[in-house]
Amino acid sequence: MESSAQAESVNLCKGCLSLTLNTSLILRTGNYGPTFTKGNFKLSPARCALCSLILRCLQRRGLEEIVELSDGGRNGLEADAFETASKDSKSGLRDIVRRFEIQTTSTPRTKVARLWPCIYPVPSVSHVADDDESLGVPFPSGRMIERFANLQLFKRWRRLCSDNHGNACSRPAWVTDDDNVPPGFRVIDVHTNCIADAPIHPSFFALSYVWGHLGENDLCATTKSIDALKEKHSLTQQGLPQTILDAMKLVSELGGTYLWVDRLCILQDDDNDKAQQIPCMDFIYSLAELTIIAASASDAHDGVAGLSVPRSVEQDTCRIGDELALMTIPTENAFPTCTYSKRGWTFQERLLARRSLMFTEDQAYWSCSCADWSERLMLEPTTSGTRTSSWSIPRNHLGNYETAPGEYYRDFSRQHYIQLPRIYALKDFTNSSDIQDAISGILRKCSFVTGDSFYWGHILVPGIFEDSLSWRKTRLELEKRTALCPIRGRGAKYDVPFPTWSWLTWKTALKFMLDLQLNTLTNTCLMPEIELFHLDIDGKVQRLLPRVMEADCGTVDRSSMLSDSGSWKGEVDVVEDIWFTDKDGLFRDSGQLLFWTSHAELSIQAEKRVRLGYVRLKIMSPDGGEFLGYISEVTLASDHGAAWPSVNFDEKALQSFVVISRKYKMEKLEGMNVLTAKPTLKVMWIQWKDSARKVAERISVGEVDERAWIDVNRDWRCIILH
Ligand SMILES: [Zn+2]
Ligand SMILES: [Zn+2]
Repeated sequence: MESSAQAESVNLCKGCLSLTLNTSLILRTGNYGPTFTKGNFKLSPARCALCSLILRCLQRRGLEEIVELSDGGRNGLEADAFETASKDSKSGLRDIVRRFEIQTTSTPRTKVARLWPCIYPVPSVSHVADDDESLGVPFPSGRMIERFANLQLFKRWRRLCSDNHGNACSRPAWVTDDDNVPPGFRVIDVHTNCIADAPIHPSFFALSYVWGHLGENDLCATTKSIDALKEKHSLTQQGLPQTILDAMKLVSELGGTYLWVDRLCILQDDDNDKAQQIPCMDFIYSLAELTIIAASASDAHDGVAGLSVPRSVEQDTCRIGDELALMTIPTENAFPTCTYSKRGWTFQERLLARRSLMFTEDQAYWSCSCADWSERLMLEPTTSGTRTSSWSIPRNHLGNYETAPGEYYRDFSRQHYIQLPRIYALKDFTNSSDIQDAISGILRKCSFVTGDSFYWGHILVPGIFEDSLSWRKTRLELEKRTALCPIRGRGAKYDVPFPTWSWLTWKTALKFMLDLQLNTLTNTCLMPEIELFHLDIDGKVQRLLPRVMEADCGTVDRSSMLSDSGSWKGEVDVVEDIWFTDKDGLFRDSGQLLFWTSHAELSIQAEKRVRLGYVRLKIMSPDGGEFLGYISEVTLASDHGAAWPSVNFDEKALQSFVVISRKYKMEKLEGMNVLTAKPTLKVMWIQWKDSARKVAERISVGEVDERAWIDVNRDWRCIILH
């Protein structure tokens, strides 16, 4: 079990010795302890183990031509070290592990090597796996892995989680008492190789994977095939994609019996079965003992890297001290670019998994509420139960597991919620209409944690909902989800078009900006400026948000409001279809909002001044002479007006605006954070979809001074916003 580095002696050149890596990569320090000074790095590969390792990295990456190794070359190398893991010691000082990195000095800079400190001799995964009580390693050392994963390590991870993490992992705070698998829940029995009706409260594993191409002979559960699939040993090698076979084998080897895989456990041709199972994805993944994530594969036939498919395990090492070595770890973060991470459904599956074991191209990762572990680094406690304070390591330092900032918050708080639009706008769906289903599980968890309910992805709280209509987008190539959106609930299923006012409707980079700091508004609402109703698919009307009184709302400073604030308002006269407000009345929502609001036709001008390549659009009086406010979204200077899809933006034509909400700002007043109501109105720039000028679609949003709004020529009208 000895690594190849065993026999090495410490053999470093003068330059490498002067970096004192022994003491600068692993150290105990106060808050402002010694930092590592970034500096130019000269290679002396003939005399030095570290230099020759770096040279091998250069060669492997085909960079040795770019870097001029001789003195005086313009393109050299630069060495730096980054704090990656830390823990508090009893003395109040911090123990720190730094990762050592080499990059080129050319532009753009290219990473040459990322090196992780290891205890010497460098341990291998089989050390830990063979002997549970092994290796009192004092820091998260790197370790050698193999082309095929060692299942003993995964068993150990499971054991450590179940022995030490308690309810935090077996019953995370966001799993509710009501969480249960849906009626008619089926699983694969991995011992008898067939589909089975799940027992009550089943203990099961789940698979999260990319479907890819569905082959003609691939086994799938349908109303026709399900009876045959329930016969013992019906799930044979033939017709089962390799990824599913790998997962079944893994479940069996980890001591499990049941595995849930969507294509075999939901009847793919039965709308009723789909309507029952699909809305329960959050329960299924959060109740699974462990979710196996096949992130390396872009098709179900690819197999799981490390199980049936050998991995690239390139790990180069060199000894740099009596008890210290360095080991190469991947320089690129492959995860964000892999098919799995780009898919919309799999994002929810990964997020909702109580525990997951994720297989990427170059290693496997464990993730539960209490820990993130990886094969290449010894992050798990080496002896169970003796852990005092554990090493903390940011998830994005685990190797190639890096996700976009905020992508992996999992507390389902409002802070977590406001990340979702940006994340979902970038995700791929085979059917764009799936987005509502593919996010519903996460939103249900958010509801459970925060008490908020959601309507087309927006928080349904008076004042806050209206404010969220002024979300902003930042990219030009916006794509509207043109497919119809399936609505499921209470046994009914019907399809409606995506409404333009919801962020769910838009694909590609979307900056979902909410002005309100939702965290500070817990349990409060704001006095809305308009009263919102919504329509069902037959045109029946129902109030969307309860009517609120000033007294029910959060404390707001109103000292800067105008004395005639709101004088642009008229009577709200909407007849609700009372029958539908009855609890048992079936209101089939269409996503169309109905409300009385103040409308004005104004002109829009692009600002002459270009700032950072962007142009702002000014809202002007109809004659173009008076400045009233700005459109909140910006457009590229090189692309006048084209930022607004579906509208032929003509600077000479008048544009329609309606009031949607008031601007609020968190301000410091006498040392206290106070929410302040501003004399500024948020307006929506709309286009009319019918000649009677009642049905409108969102184009963009802007802000207008309330005094200016009162002074313009406006009318009070009831509109339908679709
Ligand atoms: Zn050297
Ligand atoms: Zn755990």
